[in-house]
Amino acid sequence: MKLDANALRYMSSDEFRVLTAVEMGSKNHEVVPTSMIAHISQLRHGGSHKIVGELAKRSLIGRVQNASYDGYRLTYGGYDYLALKTFVKRGSVYSVGNQIGVGKESDIYLVADEEGHQHVLKLQRLGRMSFRTIKSKRDYLQKRKSASWMYMSRLAAMKEFAFMKVLHEHGFPVPEPIDYSRHCVVMELIDAFPLRQIDVVGDPGKLYNDLMAMIVKLAQYGLIHGDFNEFNILIKNNGDPVLIDFPQMVSIDHANAEFYFNRDVECIRTFFRRRFGYESKLYPRLSVDVNREFSLDVQVAASGFSKKMQDELESYQEEVQQDEQGQETTDDESDGPSDDEDSIPKDMTEEEENEARLLNLRLGNTEPEGFDADSSDN
Ligand code: ADP
Ligand code: MG
Repeated sequence: MKLDANALRYMSSDEFRVLTAVEMGSKNHEVVPTSMIAHISQLRHGGSHKIVGELAKRSLIGRVQNASYDGYRLTYGGYDYLALKTFVKRGSVYSVGNQIGVGKESDIYLVADEEGHQHVLKLQRLGRMSFRTIKSKRDYLQKRKSASWMYMSRLAAMKEFAFMKVLHEHGFPVPEPIDYSRHCVVMELIDAFPLRQIDVVGDPGKLYNDLMAMIVKLAQYGLIHGDFNEFNILIKNNGDPVLIDFPQMVSIDHANAEFYFNRDVECIRTFFRRRFGYESKLYPRLSVDVNREFSLDVQVAASGFSKKMQDELESYQEEVQQDEQGQETTDDESDGPSDDEDSIPKDMTEEEENEARLLNLRLGNTEPEGFDADSSDN
């Protein structure tokens, strides 16, 4: 799913009104009936009809013919548009540049604000891989169903922003969170390479200790990263690590806390053994090495990302994981991206793809493109 910043250039206020009406209608309708779009947008009779057609032509909304009625649903393109529009209005984004990362469930872009400061825009794409195959155990989504990709992506972005914020405020080495809207987060751009791309470090023992200390300190603050691996640790020029990617964080009060903690520790041990030939007998254990001192988990819940939201997102994440494990053994054909076969070579793995894009960034191909035709030359 390519982010179409160009769409921002050509939208009238009526079109924006209608697009917003579809978003509002999606809150309680899987497919928003055409009559409801007209009602919410409150354009003169017939006024919304033509615009709905135009928005659909630009793939910002998609027509759905239902058994009982016809209507429209928002697409990722439309959702991207609404989030970007909000960022632009707030001044946190002015222009969109190159894509620098593509994960299974996210797209990462360089963006710049009006002063030309570069930041990172992360767009959550939950459901990109899996909603087509997930059909069971949807109790937690009863009312939302097909709107769930939107809701889940929004939860993931909210969660990422909330955790990044408390971690940043408490001095953890994470990007500074700048803004969020819907399924998107804007954050500080870290000038660094993922550990994954680093073949030699001056002192592997020191880095190993730093990373284990970070896992322990997180736990002392009540948290487990849950995906603490060489892709989510960026290494700055001076060798300092920066941690990213937070939608899967859990509290140390989680029923499986020990499992997640050990998995994070094991990821680092395995990577250091394989990549640097470094092995240490010392590694932390949750029950032995962690004394809780703070409760950032509680703080996050209080900040608006509630326990209920945490549970909903977690149910989804568990389901996807199970689904993927099932797919690995049974099926290797049908789990490709559903709507984004754009410029990505089919035989590239996610890691290679990330690396290629990062290389692109390193080569200096980073000039942001302005929303307005005449804004790209500053
Ligand atoms: P995903 O959830 O898809 O794994 P990540 O947040 O891990 O997304 O980001 C994917 C990649 O994008 C990272 O491995 C890194 O290369 C790059 N990236 C993400 N955030 C930043 C950032 N703030 N600064 C620099 N690079 C980043
Ligand atoms: Mg990641």
